[in-house]
Amino acid sequence: MPVYVVLLGPPGAGKGTQAGIVAKATGLVHISSGDLFREHIKNQTDLGKQVDAILKRGDLVPDDVTIAMIRERLTQPDCANGAILDGFPRTPAQAEALNGMLAEFGGKVDVVPYIQVEQAELIDRLSGRWVCRAHGHVYNATSNPPKTAGVCDLDGSELYQRDDDKRETVEKRIRVYFEQTAPLIEHYRGEGRLVDINGAQEIAQVTEDLLKALPEQAK
Ligand code: ADP
Ligand code: ADP
Repeated sequence: MPVYVVLLGPPGAGKGTQAGIVAKATGLVHISSGDLFREHIKNQTDLGKQVDAILKRGDLVPDDVTIAMIRERLTQPDCANGAILDGFPRTPAQAEALNGMLAEFGGKVDVVPYIQVEQAELIDRLSGRWVCRAHGHVYNATSNPPKTAGVCDLDGSELYQRDDDKRETVEKRIRVYFEQTAPLIEHYRGEGRLVDINGAQEIAQVTEDLLKALPEQAK
């Protein structure tokens, strides 16, 4: 049976960083809704043109568009053993749609690690975030710098700062998270699938805690 992990946590909590590491360690596929949108924007697809301004403002993309994009990704053959979802679902309607999709694929949301970090630290982290052009590998100017400034250690591509990591947009995204996404925490906790993870620790310690939270068949 495929294994599906949903990473929850505010912008800057470390979801992308951890999903990348855990995907390598387990063989599960890392699916980041934000990376998928940014790829569409880079390639100037119809979807990319539709969502560009929404991402720049820090608002959420409408549910129907987001759900269709994730469904398409989850049906690719590389997801046959499951996936780590990073940034999806972000609303109750997306969570409900996800349950329906996974049931079709013979699976379910197995575990929901919730990575917690306090707000001042989130703002600090996002203002120092650098991302690689080729694959979205994530760095931080202070806590996780690349070996050579401005260059990705893993693929040599250029590092850039995201438009929506500007201070005003970061504050907006954190607000949007508390209004629209935070309700999912209690929803998944009520279903017994939530695992609280202290995201304020060193990257390697957060990974260790996350790996412990995964179901046996993913390890
Ligand atoms: P998210 O996907 O939740 O928005 P990211 O994984 O992109 O978060 O991380 C946000 C920023 O914080 C990046 O610059 C990343 O390098 C940095 N970061 C991630 N985890 C930690 C950590 N445990 N301690 C310090 N900085 C971290
Ligand atoms: P972060 O990792 O910092 O939380 P993401 O890369 O996950 O940011 O998301 C960037 C932007 O992409 C969001 O601010 C939003 O505009 C859009 N987005 C990503 N995932 C979703 C989603 N599940 N629903 C709606 N919009 C989304």
